[in-house]
Amino acid sequence: MQTLIYNAHVLTMDDKRTEHLNGWILIDGQRIKNLGAGPVPDALNDIGVRIDASGDLLMPGMINTHCHMAMTVFRGLGEDVDDRLFRYILPLEREAVTPAVVRTGSELAALEMIMGGVTTVADMYWFEQEVGRVIDQCGMRGVVGQSLANFTTPDHDSIEEGLNLVDALLDEFAGHDRVSASIAPHAPYSTGPKVMEQVARFADDHQDVRIQMHLAEMKSEVEWCAEHFDSRPIALADATGILKPGAIMAHCLEVTTDEMDVLKKRGIGIAHNARSNAKAGRGIAPIEAMRKRGIPCGLATDGPMSGNTLDIFSQMAPASMFAKLLGQSRASMPARDIIDMATREGARVLGLSDQIGTLEVGKKADIVRVALTSPRFKPLYDVYASLVFAALPTDVTDVMVDGNWILRDGDVLHMDRAKIMHNVDQVAETFLRKIDLGNLKAN
Ligand SMILES: [Zn+2]
Repeated sequence: MQTLIYNAHVLTMDDKRTEHLNGWILIDGQRIKNLGAGPVPDALNDIGVRIDASGDLLMPGMINTHCHMAMTVFRGLGEDVDDRLFRYILPLEREAVTPAVVRTGSELAALEMIMGGVTTVADMYWFEQEVGRVIDQCGMRGVVGQSLANFTTPDHDSIEEGLNLVDALLDEFAGHDRVSASIAPHAPYSTGPKVMEQVARFADDHQDVRIQMHLAEMKSEVEWCAEHFDSRPIALADATGILKPGAIMAHCLEVTTDEMDVLKKRGIGIAHNARSNAKAGRGIAPIEAMRKRGIPCGLATDGPMSGNTLDIFSQMAPASMFAKLLGQSRASMPARDIIDMATREGARVLGLSDQIGTLEVGKKADIVRVALTSPRFKPLYDVYASLVFAALPTDVTDVMVDGNWILRDGDVLHMDRAKIMHNVDQVAETFLRKIDLGNLKAN
């Protein structure tokens, strides 16, 4: 089936950052067949489905390079409590996180992401098969990573059991168009070098399986590495062989210039979680310096327990502003670079840039329509600046993935919104029954 969208402001994000102020896009099946500026060519007059975009913006679907979708069920719990991870989240995870809870949390996350214009997500969590199934059903695109850790987790008691879950994930999504399975050791301190070596060997045997991991995220991780191994996070990870080409490393705050050279040499992509890092008081990842070295960096929300929102718009201004603070310059991380990270560069981080990240002939039709009718978009001197500093996820009206609409006029098409909201409320009630509410206010 062919669809023509015309009378649109098309932001292609191609190599020349071509922008068609009065443009059109022709979609044929899963892919973009043609696009251009000006009136629609006569040859396209007989296209069956024609959509007048009324001057709205069409941009590539946004890419969330690091998430824990299911953790929506923890959102807002124990905020501002320094040890909330150990006091609430980990005990609750061990006790109450089941495949059904992961499904419910992931469905809520998918709703929010789709409504905010996110078309692709890299996720890592427990019971990740459920996450993959949600992404499959809602129509998004995803890289889903089964998490591994060397403590008792909700879904495995040993690394061998965890690796079996990775195998099951690989089997279930082998050959899937939109969902690819991935292996996700949690972090150096939660797996240790032996497990990282095991994962490196696994990756050698499965060249098409991407690794996702938290790395160089915080001071306590640096101290752990120094105390136990007389090393630093990136050096320790590198020594195990886990820094494979195309691996997605989340955070990377504690990085020296020499370590940036290692990341570049190994072909690593970075998932930058500006809001989550700031909210935890951890610091600012040196993305400007890493990008200058040619290391691809994508925007990411992290889990909604850490960053609270799952749309990419809410990451944009913080990512730019924190880089400006770090560089003490208004010129640091200009708006266009932020939109690069949200689209084409995020696609590079996930190894999908031959398929998505730009609006170009032959690419998959992952397209977001943003209403430019909001007062926030007037005047429109610089569309990049408006998107980064003024746009809200509610400005997204329509989303297409793989040539199929998954959001139309603000309605999510393949999910039961009311039922998902109800299920989340039920999960939250069971959590509240399990914890001592008095403790929430302590500290
Ligand atoms: Zn994370």
